Amino acid sequence: MTRIFNFSAGPATLPEVVLRQAAEEMLNWRGSGMSVMEMSHRSPEFISILAAAQQDLRELMAIPANYQILFMQGGASAQNAAIPMNLAGLQPQPAAIDFIHTGYWSGRSIGEARKYCTVNIAASSHDSGSTDIPPRASWKLSDNAAYVHICTNETVHGVEYHDAPDVGNIPLVADMSSHILSRVMDVSKFGVIFAGAQKNMGIAGLTVVIVRDDLLGHVLPFCPSQLDWKQVAENTSMLNTPPTYAIYMAGLVFQWLKRQGGVAAIEQRNIAKASLLYDYMDLSDFYRNPVAKDCRSRMNVPFFLRDEALNEAFIDGAAKQGLVQLKGHRSVGGMRASLYNAMPIEGVQALVCYMRDFEKSR
Ligand code: PMP
Repeated sequence: MTRIFNFSAGPATLPEVVLRQAAEEMLNWRGSGMSVMEMSHRSPEFISILAAAQQDLRELMAIPANYQILFMQGGASAQNAAIPMNLAGLQPQPAAIDFIHTGYWSGRSIGEARKYCTVNIAASSHDSGSTDIPPRASWKLSDNAAYVHICTNETVHGVEYHDAPDVGNIPLVADMSSHILSRVMDVSKFGVIFAGAQKNMGIAGLTVVIVRDDLLGHVLPFCPSQLDWKQVAENTSMLNTPPTYAIYMAGLVFQWLKRQGGVAAIEQRNIAKASLLYDYMDLSDFYRNPVAKDCRSRMNVPFFLRDEALNEAFIDGAAKQGLVQLKGHRSVGGMRASLYNAMPIEGVQALVCYMRDFEKSR
């Protein structure tokens, strides 16, 4: 069987060795005589899988001891509701929440937060097409902000923060769904980090929340228990049945990443992969990436063909070469190549080669 190069934004490509390991362990996990899918979440076997996954993630991201790692459900989307419900009580009511609006996903978070709190858009690149990040000096943070919410990698618009912005003592909350573990991050700069697993950590069903201890216990009274970080932390992510198989898969991905040399090593590979694609596009007047150079995402690269009438031919031709899922998000159109950790450089080389041939053939 031939595997294709899958540029999907998520669920996304996984390391082949991880899939093979999961296949090998499918029927009989390490002599237990059963599949991970069949294990009680309270069994010693599963408890060991969960604890190892948390510990490996702590090591990979150098997560300080005063941060909890929570394994939750509901996707990053459920956290868009959980975050205001957990943090709006940090300030006397009515507290504002400050948002930096840089694209589709911070926009979605804003829409959800408005149900619970007063939202202040402290800075936005929305009106100018979400192709950059407003400079920190231009942000109009409110005096009584409970927290500042940013999306550190906009999966749809391809805009990425390359540093954690300084917001003083206000807790910084970051949606890292589409670039967690792709680059070295100083966790101590953030109050809360959250991410769905289905891009750089494994499969859909698991949401990782990394939260500083002092931000637990401020929950609004109507918050569902499943979304109350303190309760989830106190119950070691087993307030109810956790997504056991997704946690197991994330654990395999974390071990794979450690074998690759960890986050610093994979970051170098991600830089090389992204440069290959951007450098080629910058030399071509056939393809165009609209994002300001200093905000370009290494993980999600949106691009447009000069002649949009060729889009379908481009997608069809790519699929014939085993390059799939290149169609851009429905809200922006064009193309998008997602280059997550598990995408080998060979995939990007094949893509650039195809793009060059396609350009020549027109
Ligand atoms: N935030 C970002 C940055 C995303 O890319 C996505 C999913 N594409 C989400 C949030 C929503 O994640 P989920 O589907 O896990 O709710």
